Amino acid sequence: MGTKREPPRLVFGPVPSRRLGYSLGVDALPFKTCDLDCVYCQLGGTTLKTLERKPYVKSGVVLKELAAALKGGRGIDCVTFSGSGEPTLNTELGAMIRGAKKLTAVPVVVITNGTLLWDKGVVADLMAADAVLPSLDAVTEGVFEELNRPARGLPLSKVIEGLVGFRQVYPGKIWLEVMIVKGFNDSPAHLRRLKERIGRIRPDRVDINSPVRPSDEAGVSPVPEARLAEIQAFLGPGARLVGPSKTTVRPAGGTRPGPADPGAEVFETISRRPVTAADVCRSFGLHRAEAAKLLAGFVAAGSAEAVRRSGKTYYRRRR
Ligand code: SF4
Repeated sequence: MGTKREPPRLVFGPVPSRRLGYSLGVDALPFKTCDLDCVYCQLGGTTLKTLERKPYVKSGVVLKELAAALKGGRGIDCVTFSGSGEPTLNTELGAMIRGAKKLTAVPVVVITNGTLLWDKGVVADLMAADAVLPSLDAVTEGVFEELNRPARGLPLSKVIEGLVGFRQVYPGKIWLEVMIVKGFNDSPAHLRRLKERIGRIRPDRVDINSPVRPSDEAGVSPVPEARLAEIQAFLGPGARLVGPSKTTVRPAGGTRPGPADPGAEVFETISRRPVTAADVCRSFGLHRAEAAKLLAGFVAAGSAEAVRRSGKTYYRRRR
C-alpha cells in the first residue's frame, strides 16, 4: 500500500458498478452494520445485526470527505450510498443525501436492502435521492430466514408492505434487485409468488442478479446464465439480467486522471467487495500490469487473498 496519505475512510472508488457505471461510493456505517446477514454477502458475516436506527456516522464527516473526493475531478456517473452495511440504519442519511446533492450534479443513489421502508423516518430520508435500489430476494418467511437471516423482530410481511407503500410516495426511480441463489429462492413456486409481489411493488425496473462474486459461506452458488434468462422471461419485460456479461461499465471518455495513491485506493475498494484485476484497471485507469502487481503485492503481504469463482480470480481483503 502507498504511504503518501491516508485513504478515504468513508468515501471510496469510483468503482465500476454493473448497474450504475462509475460510482463514487459512500459508506454511512461502521463495517458490517446491517439488519440482515445474507448468505451471499461479499463482506462476510454481519458483526452488528440490528434494527436500531441512529447516527452511526455523522453527516458532516461524510460530506467533508465527499467534498474532498469530488474535488479530485475523476469522472463519475453517480454518488452511491452503499458500502459496508445497510445505509438506512443511519438517521443522518437524509442530511447526507441532501448535502451530496449540493456538492455534485451527478445522480445521488441509495442501494438498500429495502427492509426498513415501513419506517416513516427512512422514507423521509430517501425522498431527496434520485434513485433507490432496494433488494427483495425472498417472499416467504422460510426463504427470508434461510437466505437473508434477518434481525429478530423483522417480519417479511412488514418489509413487503414497506416496499409497496414506498412506491406510492417516492417520485424517483426504483430499481428492485433480486439476487437468485441456487437452491434457496429459485424454485418455480417461489418465483411465482415473487412475480406476484413485484406486481404489487411496481418498481421501474427489476434487476436479476446471482452471486458471482465469492462469499464466505459454503453452498452459495450462482444460478447458470441460461436459467437466469428463463427467470428473466418469466418475470416479464421490466426484468433484466445484471450478469457479468451484461456489464454497464464503460470508460468515461479518457478524462479520468489516475488515483493520487493507487495502492491505498485499490486496497480500500477490495476491503469492501471482491474485485478482479480487470475491475481495478477500469475503475482506476491503471494498466493491467500495474493492477496485477498491486494485487499480487497485497496477497504476498498477507493483507488480501485471491479466490477463484465462476472462472475468474477475485481479490478481497483477508479478514
Ligand atoms: S443486506 Fe447487503 S450488507 Fe446486509 S447482509 Fe445482505 S448483502 Fe450484506
